[in-house]
Amino acid sequence: SQRTLVLLKPDTVRRGLVGTVLARFEAKGLRIVAMEQRHIDAAQADAHYAEHVERDFYPPLRDFVTSGPLVALVLEGDQAIEVVRTLNGATDGRKAAPGTIRGDLALSNRENLVHGSDSEESAAREIALWFPHLA
Ligand code: ATP
Repeated sequence: SQRTLVLLKPDTVRRGLVGTVLARFEAKGLRIVAMEQRHIDAAQADAHYAEHVERDFYPPLRDFVTSGPLVALVLEGDQAIEVVRTLNGATDGRKAAPGTIRGDLALSNRENLVHGSDSEESAAREIALWFPHLA
């Protein structure tokens, strides 16, 4: 069994889709290990997106993820990292496959509802950042 860090980004909260998105992860069989709604500041955004801070898409991404509350969670299950990314779908909601969270519910490359850790190393780093008591 594996753990992964998931964010329901501020668009999910703003659009009233927290329950809808969470239901998909739960229905898949993933267990919620930790969950908390938070309104993060720029420093937390920079820490989470450390690998992207120099990219040209990052300043608007930072503004977006700090624009309102988000829900951070740790999900657990067999191959949870890959399973979550499959459920999330491609980064760009306009291109993501139907049946995925982004494919069904998002129409943007930036405001794409969810984040999921992309590797075991990222998951360990992100879980330690968001939920230090679990690290
Ligand atoms: P995440 O890491 O959030 O699960 P991802 O792995 O699909 O998503 P990354 O390439 O890691 O995507 O980019 C992180 C986030 O930055 C994306 O989820 C999206 O919100 C934003 N982003 C990525 N590329 C672009 C872009 N070209 N234009 C605008 N926003 C972007």
